[in-house]
Amino acid sequence: MSVRAGREFLAIPGPTTVPDEVLRAMHRPAVDIYSGPLLQLTDSLLKDVARVFNTKGRSYIYISNGHGAWEASLTNVLSKGDKILVLESGRFALGWGDSARRMGVEVEILKGDMRRAVRPEEVEKRLRDDKGGTIKAILVVQIDTASGVVNDIAAIGQAIRAAGHHALLMVDAVASLGCMPFEMDKWGVDVAMSGSQKGMMTPPGLGLVVANDRAREVHRKAGLRTPYWDWTEREGDQHYQKYAGTPPEHLLFGLRQALDLLFQEGLDNVHRRHALLAEAVRRAVGVWAEGQAVGFNILEPSERCDTVTTVLLNGRDPEQLRAYCNEKCGVILGHGIGELSGKAFRVAHMGHVNAPMILGTLSVIEMALGALQIPHGKGGTQAAIEWLAQEVKA
Ligand SMILES: *Cc1c(COP(=O)(O)O)cnc(C)c1O
Repeated sequence: MSVRAGREFLAIPGPTTVPDEVLRAMHRPAVDIYSGPLLQLTDSLLKDVARVFNTKGRSYIYISNGHGAWEASLTNVLSKGDKILVLESGRFALGWGDSARRMGVEVEILKGDMRRAVRPEEVEKRLRDDKGGTIKAILVVQIDTASGVVNDIAAIGQAIRAAGHHALLMVDAVASLGCMPFEMDKWGVDVAMSGSQKGMMTPPGLGLVVANDRAREVHRKAGLRTPYWDWTEREGDQHYQKYAGTPPEHLLFGLRQALDLLFQEGLDNVHRRHALLAEAVRRAVGVWAEGQAVGFNILEPSERCDTVTTVLLNGRDPEQLRAYCNEKCGVILGHGIGELSGKAFRVAHMGHVNAPMILGTLSVIEMALGALQIPHGKGGTQAAIEWLAQEVKA
């Protein structure tokens, strides 16, 4: 027996729920790529992508996923043999660093772990020790989607300045853009990247990259530049150059609609919605944790991010819980990845989500904990409801 009929709910940290408005915006014929409204559409998107990152710098839209946007950022500012520093706080900064290594870049990892954020004072210390200024760039994620950690990018930018170091600060905002503030210029970020399919509520397929003047200056001498990713090419006058070929028209229509939805709601409200729903999830997990079998992966509460919560299951198989939620209830949770594979599940609360989606997901998890007889504190979902009732005023 299952209670699964009805719309399936995808609670994985990307791709996320695509709003019906975005789907509808894409359902239209192809248009001319050399003249007409598509040219204005590109202008508006380049401007508004920069707006979401809060930068006066340039923006570039690639036909790619996040991995492509990683490569776009690296090839435009680095040369073979350059050294970079990767700040570990889960899986994703390491993955970005690995792309760099495979391109011939020397990668040093500032050791971190799966259960905590990057410590800015450790970054400052490492940079002070780099007397010759051999480190050319620093790679960090704002949110690590595997561990569920949020890094303090403002503090990391401050640490770099305190050390008087000139390395470029490059930030992965794939799991955070459109969900929490990103202040590129204020925080001293030189290059940032994201994708379309998480907080940006658009199907996978667009890589978003932004660069400030300092990064564009470094770009001029970068040895890893290739024709497809090259910023200079994309800064050309011809519309065709903006995408190094045929524009991804339908994804652009979708992204335009998604940005309009974000601006209509107001970015501050969008961020607040994410913070409220994330805290609702944390309230529930906090109560379940009283049974000793369920726990937070991120140890320090203030380092838990607002887009995904990674939940450890002590001595129980998280795949059983995920299978129950999926097969019996139509809720698809994220699985643990990297060293958390087989040890954790992840609840996404990212993008086009509201209270019924999140409270429904929490109810289903609580139902699974009961059905599978996994010890847990009772009333997690109730705690989430009480939190929202208190914060969302009548
Ligand atoms: C999802 C994700 C990526 C990778 O994006 P893909 O589109 O899957 O290539 C990179 N970084 C972070 C933080 C992510 O969450």
